[in-house]
Amino acid sequence: MQRIDLTGKRFGRLVAIKPADHSSSKGNLIWLCRCDCGNYIEVDGQRLRRGETRSCGCLRRDQSREVAQTNEQFQKNVGNSTHFFNEDGVPFASIRRSKRNKSGHVGVSYDKKTNRWVSRLMYDGHYVLLKTFETFDEAVEARENAEDRYLKNKPQSADTSASSPSSDSNH
Ligand SMILES: [Zn+2]
Repeated sequence: MQRIDLTGKRFGRLVAIKPADHSSSKGNLIWLCRCDCGNYIEVDGQRLRRGETRSCGCLRRDQSREVAQTNEQFQKNVGNSTHFFNEDGVPFASIRRSKRNKSGHVGVSYDKKTNRWVSRLMYDGHYVLLKTFETFDEAVEARENAEDRYLKNKPQSADTSASSPSSDSNH
């Protein structure tokens, strides 16, 4: 079993202090960590290295609180509608605030890691569109096409299958 020394290393809000004197059920080293909020927790070293555990749990609490507050504020500004969520279940308020989303176009966002535009659309509980593009315009176009196809829910018989009868169109 590989034992990597994580002493003093930071993982999100956690700083590894020392190995605990026991291992996880999988045989991984457990690390005693101090969270920025002051809590101490023991975390599987592998989860730390993979970035799966980045706080004592306070990070998630903070984030959801922030979203709730923002959303409340947003609704106050905009009106009394309670469903300002896009199809991914993400509150519009948080999209508006996200610095990554320069586009302002719902369903299109910029992925810094790959330097590409991501276009996505969720329909019926799964992604019917999840693609990356080099340009913003392409991403928006893909998104709009997908919206047309999935969200407008109109019968498509006419325009897709060129329904003009061909047999009797001799001239
Ligand atoms: Zn914490």
